[in-house]
Amino acid sequence: MINNNFINKYLRQTQDIYGDKLFLKINKVSNDSNIVENSLDEFYHSINMCQKCQLGNSRKNFVFGIGDKNADLLLVGEAPGEKEDLEGAPFVGRAGKLLDKILAAISLSRDKGVYICNVLKCRPPDNRDPLPSEIEKCEPYLKEQINLIKPKLIVALGRVAAKTLLNNDLALKDMRSIKHDYYGTPLVATYHPAALLRNQKLKPAAWEDFKWIRNLIN
Ligand code: SF4
Repeated sequence: MINNNFINKYLRQTQDIYGDKLFLKINKVSNDSNIVENSLDEFYHSINMCQKCQLGNSRKNFVFGIGDKNADLLLVGEAPGEKEDLEGAPFVGRAGKLLDKILAAISLSRDKGVYICNVLKCRPPDNRDPLPSEIEKCEPYLKEQINLIKPKLIVALGRVAAKTLLNNDLALKDMRSIKHDYYGTPLVATYHPAALLRNQKLKPAAWEDFKWIRNLIN
């Protein structure tokens, strides 16, 4: 028998994401990985015209996410930058290439075991930090992506993503090397690849983080 609390929680989450429109997932296939793929695709199509906050007006592209839809590892940045906005994909450009190299060093890639997205799906003008009101409106989308992908581990890339997800105002160094919890999924924080490009001295610490990340998902 389905518990009433479960139904209420589901309806509240659904209302957070879709407003008063009732959203029901209908999957016509029985294979589990296809169900995740279809559900993520359906979810993308249901939100990609979003105008819930002001960033909907200024974006060039809605940046949903990219990667393995059955990933064990979910990487989350703060928001799309200029290149991401132009291309409609997260972590492109030099920082994205560095991230791909780091993932390859732990035998992972965007196609294998990893999904990459941001807290905000639209670019803040001039790459400013996301506003609390924008996070409040957009974070339910991330929660639904997590709900559909069901990763073993979330990695917040950079201080802004980490403090947003963990709802604190700490320095990144104080959030690293700790296994946090994000609504039931373990979460760790490490440097944003753009920070590693700006400051080479951070690379050894980031490498230690990614070796630990590999152990956590294995
Ligand atoms: S940032 Fe998020 S809430 Fe704002 S318009 Fe884009 S998708 Fe909608």
